[in-house]
Amino acid sequence: MNTVFPAPLQVTLPVKDTDDVFPVRRVYCIGRNYAAHAIEMGHDPDKEPPFFFQKNPNNLTPSGEFPYPPQSSDVHHEIELAVALKSGGTNISVETALDHVFGYAVSLDMTRRDLQADAKKAGRPWEVAKAFEKSAPIGEIVPATETGSFSAGKISLMVNGTGSQNGDLNQMIWKVPEIISTLSEYFELAAGDVILSGTPAGVGPVQKGDVMVGEIDGLPPLRVKVI
Ligand code: MN
Repeated sequence: MNTVFPAPLQVTLPVKDTDDVFPVRRVYCIGRNYAAHAIEMGHDPDKEPPFFFQKNPNNLTPSGEFPYPPQSSDVHHEIELAVALKSGGTNISVETALDHVFGYAVSLDMTRRDLQADAKKAGRPWEVAKAFEKSAPIGEIVPATETGSFSAGKISLMVNGTGSQNGDLNQMIWKVPEIISTLSEYFELAAGDVILSGTPAGVGPVQKGDVMVGEIDGLPPLRVKVI
């Protein structure tokens, strides 16, 4: 059977120290998952259950370049731990959730903050703020067999050599196993799914020419130039 036009390419991500690649199925993100970031965005971290949104698989960008998007003059960085799944299911228990993880990477949830603020005010969805072209720069995936799991450790982002975001993975309100478990109550998770696990405080705007360097203890750093 022929496709009526050439099938879109499968999005794949590099895996550290191998020629193998990770094929992406879906991208999920959790909002306001660090108390200090929830507070800086004007929310009470204690009262809100987790909520999720999605980006598109081909928003993931391993190239090291982030093209400043149109229709915004306030594009923010959000450094996040990315969790890449090798299997999935529904109603996954917290206790078994990490069995589904293939590996981890450093990622950025780039956000058109002005459009997000408009959407929040109007009660509209967030796609234009979150799911735009190349909105999720991501580094090499490191297999969990090498890294172990991530429940604590420094997570930071420097812009042009100056510290901007700083936190610890132990500040996550919903931990990685809880995120996987809760997501699987709403969606059928599967191999190839990538979950961005939220950002610590210190988000801020970037400009063309800026160089962002994201670091998470135990993972290769992510260096991204805004072009
Ligand atoms: Mn985010």
